[in-house]
Amino acid sequence: ARQFTRPLNDLANQFNTLLSAVAGAERVFEILDETVEKDSNRAIDIQEVKGDIEFKNVSFSYDQKTPTLENISFKANRGDTIALVGPTGAGKTTIMNIIARFYHYNCGEVYIDDKEITSIKKESLRRQMGFVLQDPFLFQGTILENIRYGRLDASDQEVEEAAKMANAYSFIINLPNGFDTVLDHDGSGISQGQKQLLSIARAILSRPAILLLDEATSSIDTVTEIKIQQALEKLMKGRTCFVIAHRLNTIQNADQILVLKQGEIIEKGTHDSLLKEKGFYFNLYHTQLRNEAIS
Ligand code: ADP
Repeated sequence: ARQFTRPLNDLANQFNTLLSAVAGAERVFEILDETVEKDSNRAIDIQEVKGDIEFKNVSFSYDQKTPTLENISFKANRGDTIALVGPTGAGKTTIMNIIARFYHYNCGEVYIDDKEITSIKKESLRRQMGFVLQDPFLFQGTILENIRYGRLDASDQEVEEAAKMANAYSFIINLPNGFDTVLDHDGSGISQGQKQLLSIARAILSRPAILLLDEATSSIDTVTEIKIQQALEKLMKGRTCFVIAHRLNTIQNADQILVLKQGEIIEKGTHDSLLKEKGFYFNLYHTQLRNEAIS
């Protein structure tokens, strides 16, 4: 999971250095893009997408030697929740990296609606995406600015409404400086769970068609945990969501679960259909249940 956050953390660091010079998200992505991969000359802008995503026989390797993903195929329809499960190192984060085009696949095709994603300008593509990551990307600035990063032309009132929907409002206004509280780049001073709520508020504000979620695994207190779950439910509604699932409830409600092992999809289905198969997912699920019972 660390790899997925790396580009965004780099982004955050560069953003901090350049804060005074940089006006908007587009500029920030341009800075990142120089270090990754350029758009083709023919790449187009897209205004709105439905949110269908399809992988057709996608293979990828980070080092052009060891295969990381092999022959990945699936179709997510607009509004679906797709859960990615499997052991550490299976390739879940890499699939997210490819959807957001932090890396480019070596073989196969990836479509958004009916367009191959490489035919779309990266900045335009990412504008359709919201991110809620384990380690939310915060920059040095006020809470207001950190939420507004989701949509730079949002009014103060829209920011506050997003904070309310994200269950972040009450903790924010209880801080001595409220929305004007200045965060440093790693958000010290607020808890991990509160950082998550801020990143959910930001994603709500950006109204993306596609959401990429990597649920936090670190311990978050139960009350905040419930707040996060409720806020995520609101955020996920009507959007195509890819979730790296660490908790059982997301898995159970998913329209499709992709079970990955060593870069391959070894099982695919709903929670119920996969349990009936009594295969890898069945064992994974029961192991998790046992562990949850112990802890
Ligand atoms: P998961 O999210 O399922 O834990 P990842 O997609 O992060 O798995 O990793 C899949 C494989 O790719 C792992 O073997 C991992 O070490 C490797 N990997 C991930 N990111 C990079 C990277 N940036 N460079 C090289 N190898 C990577």
